[in-house]
Amino acid sequence: MKYALITGAGRGIGRAVAVKLAEMGYNIIINYKSNTEEANKTLALVQEKNCEGILMPFDVGNRTQVDSTLGAWIEQNPDKTIEVLVNNAGIRKDTLLMWMKPEEWDSVIDASLNGFYNVTRLLINSMLLKRYGKIVNVASLSGLKGMAGQVNYSSAKAGLIGATKALAQEVGRRGITVNVVAPGFIKSDMTEGINEADFKKMIPLNRFGEVEEVAELVAFLASSKSSYITGEVISINGGLYS
Ligand code: NAP
Repeated sequence: MKYALITGAGRGIGRAVAVKLAEMGYNIIINYKSNTEEANKTLALVQEKNCEGILMPFDVGNRTQVDSTLGAWIEQNPDKTIEVLVNNAGIRKDTLLMWMKPEEWDSVIDASLNGFYNVTRLLINSMLLKRYGKIVNVASLSGLKGMAGQVNYSSAKAGLIGATKALAQEVGRRGITVNVVAPGFIKSDMTEGINEADFKKMIPLNRFGEVEEVAELVAFLASSKSSYITGEVISINGGLYS
């Protein structure tokens, strides 16, 4: 029984990834933080693909919660293998550093960077034993180029890129690949307040991306078709910056 765990799969990019991986035949563990109504919509879409869907709310940044939910599920289900992990959960709290409150720094680092550690540490042993695993981390253009007003978010995403490159070297011999997808502007709740008309002039493809376009790339990196790609950062940004 093969499972894919997608963090932050209640909405946006994570939901599109959940649907795509269900199409590939995976049973899907749908993690989200608190919006159960939206997560239920993801669940219904997964079930439409005739796959099992499991709702698993926890805050990826809270190690105790991750251990008591995901850790407990792993212990109670030794017959079930999570062979794909998509570390997608993330938030942004934009402000200039001079005004950034400790909570705005901590919460953004917790969701994207500490979340990667808290979740991946629980799955890596099983992947090592099975000699197969696909880890895809969702970073951002901000983690590559840095963005004013996003010192917290750029740091979290740059850290995630470094972690990916290091982990890829640790686990490559055991058949596990670890890669990053770095989106630019993608239409989702996260970019709701950003006016596409103002920003699209900067984008060679002249539009924001769709969540399904990101899901296609994640699905490729989560599949055996990407068997010789690891430690890579693949941008998906309409040509904005590479
Ligand atoms: P979104 O629409 O805001 O959805 C975020 C999802 O993550 C929600 O399901 C949310 O759960 C969940 N989440 C947030 N914090 C969490 C936490 N601490 N623990 C568990 N789940 C958590 O965001 P999105 O646009 O799909 O973004 C997904 C990822 O892509 C993020 O890492 C983001 O940084 C990255 N990204 C997005 C863009 C973009 O333009 N959209 C660009 C570059 C990178 P609830 O529904 O329960 O709140």
